[in-house]
Amino acid sequence: MTFAMSQPPKATLAEQINTIGFRRWHEYELTRSFGYLGLGVLTLFVALAMLEGVFAAPVRLEGGIRLILSFVCLWITGWAWLRFMKILVVAESISRQVVCDQCKRYGLIRIIREDLKQEHLEHHMVCQCKKCDHIWQLAYTLQLPNARV
Ligand SMILES: [Zn+2]
Repeated sequence: MTFAMSQPPKATLAEQINTIGFRRWHEYELTRSFGYLGLGVLTLFVALAMLEGVFAAPVRLEGGIRLILSFVCLWITGWAWLRFMKILVVAESISRQVVCDQCKRYGLIRIIREDLKQEHLEHHMVCQCKKCDHIWQLAYTLQLPNARV
C-alpha cells in the first residue's frame, strides 16, 4: 500500500461538472463555500470566548493556553474565510458564463477541454451546449499557483 494509492487524485473541475452536471456542481460549491463561512464564524466566536478573561486568569499557564488556542482559532477563521471566497469566486465566475449564446439555456453544458495558461494562471474550458451543440469558451483565474478548488 503506497501513499499515492491511499490518496486518489482529486477530480478536475471539468470532470466534476461532467459527472454531476453544472447545476448540481454549482449548488454543491455554494453549499461547500457557506460551510467554510460557518466554520470561520464559529471559530471566531470560540477565539473571542477564549480571549475573554485571559488577562484576568488567576494562573499564568491557563492564560497562555487560552491565548494560544485563540490564535489557532483565529488562524482557522482566516483560512476558512479564504476558502469561502475562493470557492465562491470561481463558482460565480463560471456560472456567469454558462448561458448558451445560441439557445439561451442556462447551465446545460459538457466540458470538452480544460487548459491552464501558466503565465496568467488562467483556466480555460471549452464547453458545449447539451441541447444545441453550440461550442464556446469559459475562463476563470485563481490568484495562487497550483491552487485547487
Ligand atoms: Zn444551446
